[in-house]
Amino acid sequence: MRPIFFYAPYLKKYETDYLSSDDGWRPISVTGTSCAFSCKHCETRVLEGMEDGSTKAKFESVLERVSSSGQKGVILSGGSSPRGDVPIWKYTEVLKKYPNLTVIAHTGVVKSREIARRFKESGVKIGLLDMVGDQETIDQVLGQPFTVKDYLNSFRYLKEEGIKIAPHVIVGLSRKGIEGDLHALELLSEVNPDAVIIVGLMPLVGTPYKNTREPSPEELAKVLLRARELFSNPVMLGCARPRGKAYISVERLAVDQGIDGMAFPSEETIEYAKDKREVVLSHACCGNVIHDFLLRVSI
Ligand code: SF4
Repeated sequence: MRPIFFYAPYLKKYETDYLSSDDGWRPISVTGTSCAFSCKHCETRVLEGMEDGSTKAKFESVLERVSSSGQKGVILSGGSSPRGDVPIWKYTEVLKKYPNLTVIAHTGVVKSREIARRFKESGVKIGLLDMVGDQETIDQVLGQPFTVKDYLNSFRYLKEEGIKIAPHVIVGLSRKGIEGDLHALELLSEVNPDAVIIVGLMPLVGTPYKNTREPSPEELAKVLLRARELFSNPVMLGCARPRGKAYISVERLAVDQGIDGMAFPSEETIEYAKDKREVVLSHACCGNVIHDFLLRVSI
């Protein structure tokens, strides 16, 4: 079986005997805590845990700190502009001073090839965006003026500009239930993703979704295995997902069923995997599996 890649970026506190997030790639929000939208499952809470890169001086000081500490990359993120994209290119000149850093970015919705080109010019190597597969969810959960086609086109424009894409599917997000999540995944076949990342809805305190049911381990496993059937490129279990004893079975299944890796594996999963597959540990964002995989495995 292929090697399995385990990641621990600085997106949450994580510590095992094998890997710690203390040295992980930093997430930086280029808009601080502001966003043009107020998606019910986030309401900008996710941005609060990131480094504040809302001004050029703040952004540059974070890049300087991570670069001089020897880290190899950063995760750029932020709130969206009303057009849907995360305007990281406002810092293109700063980013050019740090060619040693691999730039992975949450792009938001990319409405044109011209916008994709700006991401490319700013040095983005891998673009991350959640795939949403039904209009009901875009309207009622995200409250955005976009269509399913806008989401698919975002990936197309990024790829046309030579940026690798790692779409995320959030199990539990669709208003249509698990069938809606599976549909979002299946639509991705149209855009040939370089990696597919399966995450799970996490009800965040302080959001309208705080009492929403998390996806069950069975639901997460179902979408993960369907992703493995559909795609030969890397399939990952991403960082945002419900955790706890019941979900260890999903991590174990990922090891057994040839999933290419995960962010923040439990210590017992790392030990389980060591007996079965070659284990690769990294402090990158798990989307970087696209690069790590190419270096080690040819399909
Ligand atoms: S799921 Fe993976 S690629 Fe996405 S933000 Fe988390 S670590 Fe990065």
